[in-house]
Amino acid sequence: MAEPFDLDSALSSIQQAGSKAEILELRGRFVGKKGWITQEMKGLGALSPDDRRTRGAVLNGWREQVLNALAAREQWLEEQEEARQLRSERMDLSLPGRLPTVGLLHPLTRMRRRIEDVLMRLGFSLAYGPQVESEWYNFEALNIPSGHPAREMQDSFFVDVPGLVLRTHTSPVQIRTMQAYEGRLPIRVAAPGFTYRRDDDATHVPMFQQVEGLVVDRGISLADLTGTLTVMVRELVGQEVGTRFRPSYFPFTEPSVEMDVTCASCGGGGCRVCKGTGWVEILGSGIVHPTVLKNGGYDPDQVSGFAFGMGIERVAMRLFGLDDLRLLYQNDLRYLERFQSGGGHGL
Ligand SMILES: [Zn+2]
Repeated sequence: MAEPFDLDSALSSIQQAGSKAEILELRGRFVGKKGWITQEMKGLGALSPDDRRTRGAVLNGWREQVLNALAAREQWLEEQEEARQLRSERMDLSLPGRLPTVGLLHPLTRMRRRIEDVLMRLGFSLAYGPQVESEWYNFEALNIPSGHPAREMQDSFFVDVPGLVLRTHTSPVQIRTMQAYEGRLPIRVAAPGFTYRRDDDATHVPMFQQVEGLVVDRGISLADLTGTLTVMVRELVGQEVGTRFRPSYFPFTEPSVEMDVTCASCGGGGCRVCKGTGWVEILGSGIVHPTVLKNGGYDPDQVSGFAFGMGIERVAMRLFGLDDLRLLYQNDLRYLERFQSGGGHGL
């Protein structure tokens, strides 16, 4: 009777097994409970002792070889699987990394810092005051009488507490500084900060920044004012810029002057930006009013001073050539990033 089992083909099919499921199937077919070799071994009892010994040795030999082959193939399959997983999880170190987004200062912050830097080099120190201010510091002390338009509800933000207002300018810091100096001289301070007015259009926003400047000493004159401000503006806008002072009116300075610079758009020839004049206003200033000196605790017969106030957004508008101030506060990065690399704006 021909054997229904052939060792070579059994070993060969084990060596070709491509999965654990196939190994399991082959194990069952040859050496499992109902496997061929197992069944043959069960039948040994029916043989004579001699045949049993001979046949038993053969079956045991086959069984051992089949088990070894199954174990070897199973291990090989496991190694293949492991290698496949390692390949799939391998990191490709040649890919470029993801760069973190680098934060940048807002263009108005950089503008403010640049103004502060120029003023500090001119000998000014920085001073600060509260943004919620008393009406006395914001108006009365600065010689702004009760009939002044700035004191009307439609122009300023008053808060629910009587006597308090969101400061409409940085000028209250003039009074606070003089009080803090208690008569000492000289005073040379610059006060940057946020201010609030009920304005909202292309060239006005309800919250904006100013830089206030105050100098108080003996013998301060209009010459000190024009000299200091000319140096400051040239440092900010460019040494080649033309400047001029025009008589003006502010309640807290007498005389008062506004300072113009030559229009950056046309170079002074006249265009739409400067309304054909060739000049644009950059700040307001003047000789400190005697009443303001008194309110700060200084004697106007002994000392004098000059003050100026400059809108940071206004300077930025002129330097950047902006049409709409509101864009600076909408925090659209695509817009703000235009000002980050200098971009010819000198920042
Ligand atoms: Zn112009």
